[in-house]
Amino acid sequence: MSKKGIAILGATGSVGTQALDVIRAFPDKFEAVVLTCGSNGDLLIKQALEFKPKSVVVTDPIQYKRVKEALASQDTSVLFGEEGLIEVVQYAEVSIVLNAIVGSAGLKPTVTAIQSRKDIALANKETLVVAGELIMSLVKEYGVNMLPVDSEHSAIFQCLVGEDQNPIEKIYVTASGGPFRGRKRGELLQVTKAEALKHPNWSMGAKITIDSASLMNKGLEVIEAKWLFDVTIDQVDVIVHPESIVHSLVQFKDGSMKAQMGVPDMKLPIQYALTYPDRFENNFDRFNFMDYPTLHFEKADMETFRNLALAYETLRAGGNKSCILNAANEVVVGAFLEDNIGFLEMSDVIEQTLDKVEFIANPSLEDYMETDRIARLITKELIKD
Ligand code: NAD
Ligand code: MG
Repeated sequence: MSKKGIAILGATGSVGTQALDVIRAFPDKFEAVVLTCGSNGDLLIKQALEFKPKSVVVTDPIQYKRVKEALASQDTSVLFGEEGLIEVVQYAEVSIVLNAIVGSAGLKPTVTAIQSRKDIALANKETLVVAGELIMSLVKEYGVNMLPVDSEHSAIFQCLVGEDQNPIEKIYVTASGGPFRGRKRGELLQVTKAEALKHPNWSMGAKITIDSASLMNKGLEVIEAKWLFDVTIDQVDVIVHPESIVHSLVQFKDGSMKAQMGVPDMKLPIQYALTYPDRFENNFDRFNFMDYPTLHFEKADMETFRNLALAYETLRAGGNKSCILNAANEVVVGAFLEDNIGFLEMSDVIEQTLDKVEFIANPSLEDYMETDRIARLITKELIKD
């Protein structure tokens, strides 16, 4: 059997490095054809020397030069920027594009990959938040697989295997609640970046870790689930489950509920997206009931964590609203990480941005890109004021 060629966009990040762990565990099944990074050139050089991909792409101009010099004597070609990403996802040797870039920068490469008839393993949820309707119609048009990597969506996807004829009644997306679960607004005024970066169960990139603390991550995941599984907004519920063992649930029309469970470890959803529809034996950690004699479930607090309510509101409004939400969120999270905005202020600024950017009911890809650009400018202005 020939090896499956994988392009890993965002190979140096939390998901990207774990994807390489999976590829390392199955050297006769997978081949890393493409690896890319933003600004972590050192790690990309190390990865390229180990995996010997056909190409690497670097989007940071200074790091691009460094990587190009370091790999000059290798067979790996070094490409630059978004053009580079667009080129490599089209390679004939690539059968799956694992998009593990953070933010709306992942949108265009995903579109090109689908148009080149590549299956997509999607970690980059922002792609579906910005342009879910358009992306899923392209997935249909080009007949490719959209394989979720996000653990909740992988769980739902796994629950739906073999259920093609059986409509969904409800999806329950589980949420750990993050480091501030149970706190009220007054207790969140002074929280620091260091506290927000301490996720109880998962070790992830900085942006998604802040999103998890503010529940924006769950809001983005509700939007992601709506588009991936073609359900109505009212069919997607969030349930807080602090242990992060039940990764999500599907309820069918007969009332039966299926859940997918396991220890919190992204390697499993990453592996499943790469091996689907098969399951490969691995030696990843196994769940032990004695470590978790009790599992808890509670209601999400949307009054304290406004971001989750805002995500539902943008989904209901449709058009480019979720795109505005995402762009504003990327900017406020960046500002929070630089200590330029308080934790609770993030939702306030997002809400103001949502009011200020022009609504477009039926956006094209260009409209989404333009909305993303304008929303970022407006959010930056609001933070300065
Ligand atoms: P990360 O910050 O650890 O890594 C991001 C990767 O993208 C890095 O390789 C970085 O160099 C690259 N990158 C950053 N900005 C870029 C840009 N503008 N253009 C091109 N490349 C860029 O992030 P992560 O935690 O691995 O998350 C990646 C994506 O996966 C996010 O969309 C996140 O929401 C999603 N996700 C992550 C996890 C997790 O466990 N980390 C779980 C579920 C979903
Ligand atoms: Mg998730």
